[in-house]
Amino acid sequence: MAEISSGNIWIDTFQSLQKIELEEKYGNKWILQFNYNLVDKLTEEEKRKGWKISQTTKFASFNCSNCSHFWNSSRVTLIFHYCLGKSKTGQVFLRPFCQICRQCNSEYFMKPKFKEESVKAALENLILKIRKNCYREKIRNISQDVMYRTIRTKPHESDLCEACMEGICNKERDVF
Ligand SMILES: [Zn+2]
Ligand SMILES: [Zn+2]
Repeated sequence: MAEISSGNIWIDTFQSLQKIELEEKYGNKWILQFNYNLVDKLTEEEKRKGWKISQTTKFASFNCSNCSHFWNSSRVTLIFHYCLGKSKTGQVFLRPFCQICRQCNSEYFMKPKFKEESVKAALENLILKIRKNCYREKIRNISQDVMYRTIRTKPHESDLCEACMEGICNKERDVF
């Protein structure tokens, strides 16, 4: 039977990818959830439990819920925390970083909206890392995500970017 759609592109895309690449191969079901409090570091206890971090940057758009202003950004930070737990269920937490609307300059952080191709590219890359780092598959040189299309955006406005405020913007990195 087909899975019921969650209505969220990240959760739905992850479900269909993990089913083929992880669940059917290794017998462990993986679940993706959002957590807007994730940081780019792991505690010693988290490391001991096997948590890992993957950070990347993707293109996304924003629509201010206050004044309806719309903008694009090619620098939207994503942090994933992932772990194959003792119960043999895989957990992924995702934090997409927000931006502030420059038009109404409110203090509210607006959440990014990603195109399907960006979601797929980010998750395919994450699943390769899970196969390599949680299942010891020999995968060499996981490439940086391919930019499918170059879309012109205005220069990055650091004072409106949540990831810049936390000093972690525009990085590709892994933490183990
Ligand atoms: Zn606004
Ligand atoms: Zn930034």
